[in-house]
Amino acid sequence: MARSQSVFVCRACGAEALKWQGQCDHCKAWDSLERLAAAPGASERVEPSPAASLEAANLQAESSSRLPFGLAELDRVFGGGLVPGSVTLLGGEPGIGKSTLLLQVACSLAQQWPILYASGEESVAQIALRAQRLQLSAAQLELVADNALEAILQRCAQRQCALLVIDSIQSMRSTLLEAGAGSAVQLRECTLALVRHAKTRGSAVMIIGHVTKEGSIAGPKLLEHLVDTVLYFTSDAGSRYRMLRATKNRFGPVNELGFFAMSERGLKEVRNPSAILLSRHAQPVPGSVVMVARDGARPLLIEGPGGSQSRSGTASRCPGPRRESALDAAGYSQSPCRAAAGGLRRVRQPGRRHRDR
Ligand SMILES: [Zn+2]
Repeated sequence: MARSQSVFVCRACGAEALKWQGQCDHCKAWDSLERLAAAPGASERVEPSPAASLEAANLQAESSSRLPFGLAELDRVFGGGLVPGSVTLLGGEPGIGKSTLLLQVACSLAQQWPILYASGEESVAQIALRAQRLQLSAAQLELVADNALEAILQRCAQRQCALLVIDSIQSMRSTLLEAGAGSAVQLRECTLALVRHAKTRGSAVMIIGHVTKEGSIAGPKLLEHLVDTVLYFTSDAGSRYRMLRATKNRFGPVNELGFFAMSERGLKEVRNPSAILLSRHAQPVPGSVVMVARDGARPLLIEGPGGSQSRSGTASRCPGPRRESALDAAGYSQSPCRAAAGGLRRVRQPGRRHRDR
């Protein structure tokens, strides 16, 4: 990374600039440029990448089939199992269960393949304790508590791991750069190094990214366009249910929803999500409407208050009978009367907060 000239990277959009300026030319964000500085002694990578004929590459692609997760809801979101050499970014608010989900996945896959779980946030003992609490068999899983990315990649290459889990990208640091962990420059360069590693070594990489207040991972589009798949993990405050949605997926469908429930033994898949979207009343409730919303390939039954029920003036803002498309019903648009439909708020598109603003 020895560059003759300094380069500045925007922490909001990832655009590069040759000189520092107050405003990013690309996204117009103020004070968002950070200098990309190589650490003293760091040298440019010079060894050539291995080349292969198309025929050989096709043979390799055929033999490397997807690895099944063992969780049908996760397979649904991915469009089948995990693709070798793919890079997945898992975003969500702190504490929602991202580490729990990936620890479960890593332990399950480690029964058959070499898997490396690298955490820059917890010690090996803490991760082992969590695996024990979730009653996971982590005997075959290799754990490493480190935030030096190069050392993690080296270990992954030595073990020829099928999957490398990075928990989290904000805690990782490339020793080739001067900037501190979590800075825009580190986030971008570490993600690029992980992508390079995945594409040349064939290991799948799953990266945990904490979302910012604005609902995006480290500034909109800074990392999203570098990886193959972007998943968002969301829930309503206080709810034990979690929803997982792919907002970008190079190897499968986008906007397919996966439902999970958080329990003492980790995340359990919800096989019939309509059951949690319908309220459980002993008697039929006047004014309550059940509608069918199609989200992804699966129809969902959703219950909410109807527009004609007048109780507190809510109905006056929704005059007459109305037709709502399935997308509206699933919370894609937000008019006052729809927002009032409490039941509908549960199916809300993850990661949309920053798009609304
Ligand atoms: Zn920018």
